[in-house]
Amino acid sequence: MLKGKNVIVTGATRGIGREIALTLAQNGANIAMNYRNLNSEVEDLINEIKSFGVDALAIKCDVSITEEVDNFVKEVKSHYNTIDVLVNNAGITKDGLILRMKEEDFDDVLDVNLKGTFNTTKSVSSIMVRQKYGKIINISSVVGIAGNAGQCNYAASKAGVIGFSKSVARELASRNINVNVVAPGYINTDMTKNLPDKVKEEIIKSIPMKKIGDPKEVANLVLFLSSNLSDYITGQVINVDGGMVMA
Ligand code: NDP
Repeated sequence: MLKGKNVIVTGATRGIGREIALTLAQNGANIAMNYRNLNSEVEDLINEIKSFGVDALAIKCDVSITEEVDNFVKEVKSHYNTIDVLVNNAGITKDGLILRMKEEDFDDVLDVNLKGTFNTTKSVSSIMVRQKYGKIINISSVVGIAGNAGQCNYAASKAGVIGFSKSVARELASRNINVNVVAPGYINTDMTKNLPDKVKEEIIKSIPMKKIGDPKEVANLVLFLSSNLSDYITGQVINVDGGMVMA
């Protein structure tokens, strides 16, 4: 589905991003990813991507730092010449109730989840506009739609990603660039593994399908949105949540 396409996936070192990188690579895309610390897991991932017969490029970059993102995108562009797909997946949580939330925890989450998405999108969209082609997929969350006690910073960042994406979708639609949002529900990754069992049980009860999602289920939607099968879809938010939130 993506043979010869060049793709950037942020936050691919673990969890949902890792699965997205592998799924797109399996479908023929060359993968450029960022890392913050080069370790054996990142090296294993690079080898796994290459085992599908595609290219893999890994560059150190913190998405919240504008200059690092600009250098990352510049290096990807000079390596591949085109950037066909951008998947903004890097994200963090720093949970706390509003009465106790530290300003720093609010800022950090907004800086990575929302400003990080702005940084990469701004840098890549100038290349996509010149190419007259591109797919941008931003990973939000159902929490950005429905809210969640203890996550006002995260919810604000993910709601921000939705408004941001719809605006950019309107700006870039005439340039043949699609911008869409994927909103996962509760997915099994490092981000969610440390929740107490009781909280997990309550969450599962609230999911009509009565099960936690797998990163692969998110990656499959990203594959569709990265491909030409989604050419007439832009500015949309699609949930992958077992029916948890129905707008
Ligand atoms: P993980 O915590 O498993 O992985 C997060 C990824 O983001 C890692 O690769 C991490 O890199 C990277 N990252 C974090 N901060 C930065 C930064 N400043 N610069 C560059 N990369 C960074 O998370 P998930 O896989 O669970 O989540 C992926 C996305 O999906 C996030 O945007 C998250 O908000 C969203 N999501 C997840 C849900 C879930 O239930 N898991 C539900 C809804 C949305 P490193 O290895 O260096 O830390």
